[in-house]
Amino acid sequence: MKMSKGRLIVFSAPSGCGKGTMLEEILKEGSFRCSISATTRDPRPGEADGVNYYYMNNDEFAEHIKNNDFLEYALYCDHYYGTLLSEVEPYLEKGINVILEIEVQGAMRVKEIRPDGIFIFVAPPSIQELRRRLHKRGTEAEDVIEQRVSEAAGEIEQSVNYDYIIINDALEDAVSDFFDIINAEKLKAEFSAKKIEEVLGKCSDQQ
Ligand code: 5GP
Repeated sequence: MKMSKGRLIVFSAPSGCGKGTMLEEILKEGSFRCSISATTRDPRPGEADGVNYYYMNNDEFAEHIKNNDFLEYALYCDHYYGTLLSEVEPYLEKGINVILEIEVQGAMRVKEIRPDGIFIFVAPPSIQELRRRLHKRGTEAEDVIEQRVSEAAGEIEQSVNYDYIIINDALEDAVSDFFDIINAEKLKAEFSAKKIEEVLGKCSDQQ
């Protein structure tokens, strides 16, 4: 298993689950970096290239696939989305925790390559609430909303393949669940070898 200095966190949620707002809160804490993905979808109002995504056409995306530049990529709602290795590896090497905000197929691909990642799925309290939030956001046409709702139901069924599930009913609770997960992960025995060495070192000093 490839172990890195920073932790890789894979964060999936159907669109409209409040994932963006959750991530804003999480990033404020200061110890995480969110990877910027490549996509072939058009920018939404207010989005900017190199900030929300690297926007590219199909040919440019295909070129990156050919050059093995992606950790993973997937086709989602008729558009390609992919995580560039350059957005992940250099940061993990520097000890920075990297969050990938990606959909389920890509997340499962990352799980095969990087089983040491922390896989978190964020679900809405209900499908009705998800539909209501997508309407309220008002960035998609009605048929796109229905496509995303049906995609979401399929994704929620796959949430059992993740390590953790957070139900985003109230933002504050969902963010606090995220930090609980990260804190529990820090205490896992498999990542505590150094701590144990220190403990044993102290023990031998005292003998
Ligand atoms: P949106 O178009 O709403 O920004 O994103 C649609 C879906 O694509 C979301 O579920 C989002 O998590 C996912 N996504 C964003 N970037 C990536 C990526 O690099 N790889 C994969 N597999 N999915 C991504």
